[in-house]
Amino acid sequence: MIEQATIERILDASEIVEVVSDFVNLKRRGVNYLGNCPFHNEKTPSFTVSPAKGIFKCFGCGKGGNAVNFIMEHESLSYPEALKWLARKYHIEIVEKEESEEERQQKDDRESMMIVSGFAQKYFSRFLWEEPEGRTVGLGYFRERGFREDIVKKFELGFCPDGKSTFTDAAQREGYRMEFLEKTGLTIKRDDWVRDRFSGRVMFPIHNLAGRVIAFGGRILKHDPNAAKYLNSPESEIYHKSRVLYGIFQAKREIMRADKCFLVEGYTDVLSLHQAGIENVVASSGTALTPDQIRLIRRFTPNVTILYDGDEAGIKASLRGIDLVLEEGLNVKVLLLPGGEDPDSFARKHNATELLHYIAENETDFIQFKTRLLLKTTENDPVARAKLITDVLRSVSVIPDTIMRSVYIRECSKLLNVDESILYNEVRKILRHRSGKAGFQLPPDQPAKAKPQVAPPTPQPAGLDTEEQELLRILLKYCKSPLFEQESETPGQTEIISVGYFILAQLINDDLVSDKPEFKTIIEEMADRLEEDDFQPDRYFFHHPDARISRLAIDLLAEKWVESKRWSKAGSYTEKEEDILEWLVPKIVNEYKLRKVKYLLADIEKQIAGLTGEDDFEKVIDAQSKYMNLKKVEKFLADRLGNRTMIS
Ligand SMILES: [Zn+2]
Repeated sequence: MIEQATIERILDASEIVEVVSDFVNLKRRGVNYLGNCPFHNEKTPSFTVSPAKGIFKCFGCGKGGNAVNFIMEHESLSYPEALKWLARKYHIEIVEKEESEEERQQKDDRESMMIVSGFAQKYFSRFLWEEPEGRTVGLGYFRERGFREDIVKKFELGFCPDGKSTFTDAAQREGYRMEFLEKTGLTIKRDDWVRDRFSGRVMFPIHNLAGRVIAFGGRILKHDPNAAKYLNSPESEIYHKSRVLYGIFQAKREIMRADKCFLVEGYTDVLSLHQAGIENVVASSGTALTPDQIRLIRRFTPNVTILYDGDEAGIKASLRGIDLVLEEGLNVKVLLLPGGEDPDSFARKHNATELLHYIAENETDFIQFKTRLLLKTTENDPVARAKLITDVLRSVSVIPDTIMRSVYIRECSKLLNVDESILYNEVRKILRHRSGKAGFQLPPDQPAKAKPQVAPPTPQPAGLDTEEQELLRILLKYCKSPLFEQESETPGQTEIISVGYFILAQLINDDLVSDKPEFKTIIEEMADRLEEDDFQPDRYFFHHPDARISRLAIDLLAEKWVESKRWSKAGSYTEKEEDILEWLVPKIVNEYKLRKVKYLLADIEKQIAGLTGEDDFEKVIDAQSKYMNLKKVEKFLADRLGNRTMIS
């Protein structure tokens, strides 16, 4: 358990923009920041961060919260784990209350797996730098490859001792449990034996975006025809190969700064480019590029340049994978390295200035690159040429942006020497074919969209009715605002009644507090604190330790970031909300009450319907009189609100 004082220090230190920027490229928009949502797939940013309020909100998928909620959601952590994460970021020492055995047991598997992986990384690095075997074999290898010590340290490289279970034994001596050694794949265990997965290999730890080690790649050094040159950690709860890019943690800031990402294939390509001074580089580490990996890049930049070695066969094989990148709306360029060079060897021979110069001179737009490459191989072969055109146009057709697409078509028309209108027709055919498969029809001759973008429905916060939401919203937003003046108990004096006081008095006196848990909590805690001078309801509830409450508060108030729709739409009421509180607040309270009364009426109707026994006569009479009274209240409220609200 973390002490309350520490929690408050962490909350105070956590700058929402800083925290989110570790994972999302944010651009300033007025007082807020905007970026692509990390929680749903989108191409136009609707993910908004408010530094003033200390919260984020996605208007696409509805997710919202404070810095702690963001880390919880993004890193799949519990509340205390997210606090610890932030404490690490802001160098705040955690003061913990004594943890019971039970609490320790509850620490979830994922965290335990990350802790074991972190230990393994430190163990392998220490072994590389301090043990004779590590220094000779492991460090010796990196030196021979020409890697500087600062690079070896930056990427936390290491060496796993060449033994049956040297590492596993050491981990167990330190108290790490076999369960998690096995789950992370560091140890392989069978009925009658245990061994280190990576024994005798140099180790490349794989970090997640937040910089924690989640897996390893290991390269074997001795000659063994039966062993794979590179071995990776198996898929696990913390490591999904298809969603990870090697080097993203070390590269993300530079990717944002340069607004560009270089994509290479292997671990050592990443290291060499860093060593040459180019730090905005990541590797797909052996796997074919996946949509998740592309989306990871897109969070930081839309510009990707893929570095290839000059091997034509390899390039052709990977061409199709690049359509995926185009499909995600990224700008793709390709850089072909001179014959016989790979990014690793090439970076070794040049410094950053030379490299960047070479890249700028030689990187080509992907479509152009593909067209030229295929053209070379289809000279004087009309059938192959026709196939080539379709192939190139298929790549063009996946580009979601219509303007970008037309630029490409013009380009292709020149390169292929085919009329633009013919190419347009072909693209339209491909799109129509594709959309037919996806189960929807494109209107004829409309500028085609590659994919329908269906925004997920915004969920109703906490299952509240509109009336309940409105009441809470107005209460949270204007709690302290004066509503009207009334005579005080001291004759001749007046007192100011605040919005918060008015609403709470109305609800509590009439015993009309909704029994939905989130609603009740907010009302009750608000009532407790209303009199405190420094009580700021938005701040208090945004940072509420119960994530459901903080989310609800944010959901309710976030709507107001985009101007209030409700009152500006309603014809005559074009005034600003805060100028008409005197009229608006009683109206919202009455609407809420009316809804509540309707619920009660429905309840009684059900009761009466259930009272069929002979002895129930008195109960029925009783219920009916309650019903009549409520009907009167309903009419009273409805009259005050005008007939409009009778419809429901
Ligand atoms: Zn979203």
